[in-house]
Amino acid sequence: MKYIIGNWKMNMSAGEIVEFTRRVKKYKIPRKRNVQFGFAVPYVYILGMAKIQDYVWIGAQNVSEHDNGAFTGEVSASMLGDVGLDFCIVGHSERRTLFNETDEQVNEKIKKLQQYDVMPLLCIGETEEQYEAGSTKEVLLKQITKALDGIDKTKDIIVAYEPVWAIGTGKTASIETIRETAGFIRAELRKIFGHNDTPILYGGSVNPSNSDAILHNAEVDGALIGGASLDADKFVQIASSLF
Ligand code: PEP
Repeated sequence: MKYIIGNWKMNMSAGEIVEFTRRVKKYKIPRKRNVQFGFAVPYVYILGMAKIQDYVWIGAQNVSEHDNGAFTGEVSASMLGDVGLDFCIVGHSERRTLFNETDEQVNEKIKKLQQYDVMPLLCIGETEEQYEAGSTKEVLLKQITKALDGIDKTKDIIVAYEPVWAIGTGKTASIETIRETAGFIRAELRKIFGHNDTPILYGGSVNPSNSDAILHNAEVDGALIGGASLDADKFVQIASSLF
């Protein structure tokens, strides 16, 4: 199975979503059993978003680590489960850097999502400084170990390797780096879960000109796409790497 997941971040209006949906439908992406599409949508549009096709996953971009209660402005895992969301991004680098989200919070969020059967999509990645210092694997191992501590290992989770320096910058990790790093993550996940089934995505400036090479990399099970997922034509071009 390959996964093409768009992260719309804090973008789109209701009108733009209607137009996006219209354009994507026009392409009539063939329904393939081995490709899963999904979009992480801003909360306010989740319920109103007409599904682009019935086989597209709809997810959120963040969740509270708390149960329902006096947490003004937050959205709980029980609410995401209640409206039937397929997945929720956890630990995106923008949450970690702009909102000081810690590995401990990421861990709590994953546990809450599992409790309400919303699949976590865990993002991990090193900063440019850490990359230059050669500490990528050490950083990723710490993020993985802390995020997955004490979680339910019988439930599905997706992990996205997103080098922070590649997100929204137009810089992409080389295919060799992606392959080697995804292989490292796979080996660590195997130790934790006891199997090889956890999908590993790559994210960081994926676009129509690099998606072929990234998506046909044996170690990578798909892509998490930010900027390019806002443009229906680019999204479909990326998806078509798989058809
Ligand atoms: C992301 O936000 O997860 C992402 C990968 O963004 P972009 O594709 O714009 O680099």
